[in-house]
Amino acid sequence: VEVPVLAPVILAASRSDKMRRFVSAAPGTKQVVDRFIAGETVDQVIPIVQDAAAKGLEVTLDVVGEDITTVEQSYAARDAYLELVDRLKALGLGTKAEMSVKLSMFGQALEGGHELALANVRPVVEAAAAIGTTVTLDAEDHTTLDSMFAIHEELRKDFPQIGCVIQAYLFRTEDDARRLAAAGSRVRIVKGAYKEPASVAYQDKAEIDKAFVRIVKILMQGEGYPMIGSHDPRLIAISQELARQAGRKLDEYEFQMLYGIRSDEHVRLAAEGHRMRVYTAYGTDWYGYFMRRLAEKPANLLFFARSILTT
Ligand code: FAD
Repeated sequence: VEVPVLAPVILAASRSDKMRRFVSAAPGTKQVVDRFIAGETVDQVIPIVQDAAAKGLEVTLDVVGEDITTVEQSYAARDAYLELVDRLKALGLGTKAEMSVKLSMFGQALEGGHELALANVRPVVEAAAAIGTTVTLDAEDHTTLDSMFAIHEELRKDFPQIGCVIQAYLFRTEDDARRLAAAGSRVRIVKGAYKEPASVAYQDKAEIDKAFVRIVKILMQGEGYPMIGSHDPRLIAISQELARQAGRKLDEYEFQMLYGIRSDEHVRLAAEGHRMRVYTAYGTDWYGYFMRRLAEKPANLLFFARSILTT
């Protein structure tokens, strides 16, 4: 089964409440979710951070959740991250773990959401800086990005280390990459995980890969700190070569992969002397994150369907 056929169907389902209820209640779901979600609570994720550190890996921690509907939920999101920072501080893990944040979970889509999300995320970035780490703003669907970049720029005035994500599938991203590279930011480049229309995004896998390479080149030749977020062996090899051509040392960029995906490769690249950061998602509101992981690889969906039918 080809990814382009199934992915839009799964991504549409990722926004459906009816499917959310069905998938969450299915008996085989937990087993498949556990592959991608590191735990439900801070207590469950801390040993995973320690284990990663012991293997020479760093992490970026994501408290799952997005598309909230009330202001109270946006405060709860902020508080969940503040609790995480407290725990990292107590355990002296501040230099091993940064955090990834989805602004939609901080209230971005609510009325007055831009200001609300900025007000909610600022104390998290501040708390992170106080323990020697930082935050990266994830990229969500294209309608949210102007607000995300504006929040990134605003916060950079006080916290130059804050990072953001750009998506190779969007036509706009080469321009964003040039602007961010010149400004010296920490920038994660990924292919892009949302369902985007042909008016704003490449639909063809080969076109997305070519754009990814052009963008890595811009970032490597620029003044920022590139973070290559991909499991694609070809793009990783090309990125290594582009880093070399740009004269970057091994600690002047990093690779990032998702928890549960190509785990051997995390360790292999770290053993080669690369900085490798594992994006580690945890929490109870895992539905949207989980469905995007299913959409990326149809084999996951078949495995999931089988586990539902046989449990
Ligand atoms: P692909 O061509 O999709 O995958 C290459 C190979 O990796 C596959 O052949 C397979 O072996 C393996 N693989 C990839 N995905 C899976 C999977 N789900 N299950 C099992 N195997 C898999 N997207 C955003 O839109 N916004 C973000 O902020 C964002 N942050 C990210 C952070 C990190 C650290 C990473 C790694 C990805 C992030 N993504 C984000 C997701 C990204 O956009 C892609 O959807 C995802 O990384 C798959 O693309 P790929 O580059 O790995 O290449």
